[in-house]
Amino acid sequence: KEELNIIQGALELRTKTVEDVLTPLTDCYMLSSDAVLDFCTMSDVMQSGFTRIPVYENDRSNIVDILFVKDLAFVDPDDCTPLKTITQFYKHPMHCVFSDTKLDVMLEEFKRDAGKSHLAVVQRVNSEGEGDPFYEVMGIVTLEDVIEEIIKSEIVDE
Ligand code: ADP
Repeated sequence: KEELNIIQGALELRTKTVEDVLTPLTDCYMLSSDAVLDFCTMSDVMQSGFTRIPVYENDRSNIVDILFVKDLAFVDPDDCTPLKTITQFYKHPMHCVFSDTKLDVMLEEFKRDAGKSHLAVVQRVNSEGEGDPFYEVMGIVTLEDVIEEIIKSEIVDE
């Protein structure tokens, strides 16, 4: 029975999309690119509990970098290091996906880019309104969100 549920969850990966499981931008814990890594900011990051933190410039929808909490290992809060110094040093690649990406494809992408971060920024093409269509950031998706989709159907069905 349990195996069947997991198989069903796995099969659903082919129909569900990244949009169904993403963490919306408004719920994302992020840092502004002009932040300073003083004691206050660093303890806030630690308290957030997240491993990867998107960094935005000017507007929260303009994600320009990803900070890994482990990047802070050698940072002394007393130095008040600008966040930019750290992000420019590590330059973690930023992975973007479209919101209509199916979860099985997403899973493959996370597996393929295993050496990189298991986090992607989700975009969609916004063609509503009168102006030209534009890319709109909707949120973030991680490997855990995809795996949860398999586990969740197991829990609900039990
Ligand atoms: P972590 O390792 O930081 O706990 P996971 O990849 O395990 O992150 O993801 C756990 C959940 O938290 C997922 O739903 C994911 O979308 C969400 N998440 C990850 N990073 C952030 C963040 N910076 N802000 C808000 N939610 C996040």
